[in-house]
Amino acid sequence: MAVPDPHALNGHRADREAVTAALAAELADVVYALQVRPDARFVYLSRSIEDLLGYTPEDFYNDPAIGRGIVHPEDRPHFRVDLRSSASDTREFVARFIARDGRTVWTEHRARQVKYDDGQVVLYGAMRNVTEHRSAEAALVDEREQYRLISEHSQDVVLRSDAENRVEWASPSVTTVLGWTPESLIGREIPDIVHPDDVRAGYHAQQALLRGESQYAEGEARFITPTGEWRWMRVIGRVVMAPDGSLAGTVVELRDIQAEMATRAELEREIDHDALTGLAKRGLTLGRVQTALDRPDREGLALMCASVDGLVLINEAYTHTAGDRVLTVVAERLIQAVGDISRLGRVAGSEFLIVVDDVFTPEDVAARALELLAAARGPVLIGTHEIEVSISIGVARPDGGDAAELVRDATTAMRQASAKGHDRWEYLDAERANASRSRLAVQTSLRQALNEDHIRPWFQPVVNLSDSSLAGFEALVRWEGADGEVLEPSQFFDAAERSYLVTTLDRVILRRALDTLVDAESHLSLATNVSAPTLADAGFFAYVVDELERTGVSPSRLNLEVTETSLVDVSPAVRSGMRDLAALGITWWVDDFGTGYSSISHLRDLPVGGLKLDRSFTMGVASGDQRSIRVSQGLAGLARGLALRTVAEGVQGERDAAVLLGQGWTMAQGWYFGRATREMAWHPDPALLA
Ligand code: C2E
Ligand code: CA
Ligand code: CA
Repeated sequence: MAVPDPHALNGHRADREAVTAALAAELADVVYALQVRPDARFVYLSRSIEDLLGYTPEDFYNDPAIGRGIVHPEDRPHFRVDLRSSASDTREFVARFIARDGRTVWTEHRARQVKYDDGQVVLYGAMRNVTEHRSAEAALVDEREQYRLISEHSQDVVLRSDAENRVEWASPSVTTVLGWTPESLIGREIPDIVHPDDVRAGYHAQQALLRGESQYAEGEARFITPTGEWRWMRVIGRVVMAPDGSLAGTVVELRDIQAEMATRAELEREIDHDALTGLAKRGLTLGRVQTALDRPDREGLALMCASVDGLVLINEAYTHTAGDRVLTVVAERLIQAVGDISRLGRVAGSEFLIVVDDVFTPEDVAARALELLAAARGPVLIGTHEIEVSISIGVARPDGGDAAELVRDATTAMRQASAKGHDRWEYLDAERANASRSRLAVQTSLRQALNEDHIRPWFQPVVNLSDSSLAGFEALVRWEGADGEVLEPSQFFDAAERSYLVTTLDRVILRRALDTLVDAESHLSLATNVSAPTLADAGFFAYVVDELERTGVSPSRLNLEVTETSLVDVSPAVRSGMRDLAALGITWWVDDFGTGYSSISHLRDLPVGGLKLDRSFTMGVASGDQRSIRVSQGLAGLARGLALRTVAEGVQGERDAAVLLGQGWTMAQGWYFGRATREMAWHPDPALLA
């Protein structure tokens, strides 16, 4: 800091003591001597004033009006003579200056007034720039005011807490939403009123905010009410930093989502559980099988598929109600025998899956299978009739494949058991060898077909439900044999998916479909399917971008469909690749929604823009199945709530189209509108457009 030059003090003897005191003022940015009587003028200013206000000391010495002009009118009294002040009094005050460029500069002063015998009065002072601090405080006040306004007029609750998460202020709405009065919360730590299971996530979010990873964090948590109930809240938190960079506190906004959570849970149950037996359905069961497969200790793992013998006959001889009764009883018997309902699932009409994890030897497997056969066997009373019921069981062991493969193996084994006669069990063996031999053969010729361009996209129209106008096409793979025969995916896709051929196949379809789209009208979109191995393939995202560039197709026209199942465990790299493509304008769709083993939360955590209702629900809607109707209705509402686009698949009739439109599905696909064709063209039935 520059030492004042005594000569600059305009002829006055420097008051050493005052100047020294001023100099000693810690962290002074500028030291000054202001003559306040007879007229007001700065008689000394340190050079640093230029950094602060944009004027040099000379500007002030030469033009005293500048000195008077820079002080904010409301703060001028601080610089006047204080008649009551004795020589030893120090004044401390904050004053606003108007800098040369018009900025307001907040300054904190420590100054002492010295009276000289000749009647002159000089104010010796040191000042510090506190603008940043002040504007942060001002912003805080503004913000608080803003929150007060928002929260008094809405159902949202706002909590402000200090650095220790203690509530400093709560909006009045907290009373209607959670039952607490604002006063009763002041001083309480927020984690105190949050469900223990949800506290950790909040803590992690706060840490991420402190590291500056994002501006705000969003999550869901349960808060307690005075009566001890938990209510689900959507939580948006922001941290408020003090000027020195430390944590000053948090602003948390809460919105009541209790009703939404209840609906969501119900919907998830509807989707995941079979209404008749209460058992997990296919999707959830597959997920559980996969979890078991992923465990390191799976030597004792086996999957059993059990099917009620002759159920078709029972349905025909009696009624479907009788068939349902038999299924319920068998389910109960199996639950009883297995002892843990989460090991059981109902995956198809008459089929159950049982996950077993303590059968290490062939003898163990046999013993367990016989035990289950015995448990399920026995009479079931239908009205006054007694029917003898039995099951057939197929057993499969993990063979390096995923859950779906294991389930298929167990099912195949069950069919063998059932074909050989009822009430028996079978291991998958010879059959497996055959299947894998034939898959290998398909893979070999598929590889060749890919090289020879026999693998091509066919195009199924996607229409807008409201007016049956064309929205675009979904590309579906077809294998065009040399003899003119066209194979559908069911005939070869399984083999492709079990090898990395499927990633080549997906690329080929995307590339050829884009080539075709170039000649289509520019408002039409294109959807292609992205299999799980393709999604995980490191080069795929760049491939998509390259292909869009090559063809000049706008990314907003491209829809990429992934199954729920492939979204279950996306790696951070895939997640960010998906985000990047979404940022370009590509839309990610969840295909076959409701059948996989993901949960609804994936829709929020991933950059998903659309939802395709699985064909099975559409079929259910068409046949008046109440559960399908509820699920499709619920999913339409969910999609609306999450601002997702929607396509209902498998529409085969006018009636289902109308019901789905009424539920809020905006687009549709299905044989009613058109099947996949070789050309990217749609020739609708004129009646459709009437
Ligand atoms: P997806 O993606 O759900 O495709 C819709 C399937 O439903 C198509 O069968 C389509 O022909 C069929 N479909 C459409 N409308 C109706 C209808 O009204 N009723 C009935 N019963 N079916 C209808 P497709 O072409 O046999 O494809 C089967 C599956 O194969 C596809 O299901 C998709 O998962 C997979 N797939 C097809 N092409 C590709 C591809 O290029 N890449 C990947 N990764 N998968 C593909
Ligand atoms: Ca699809
Ligand atoms: Ca689909």
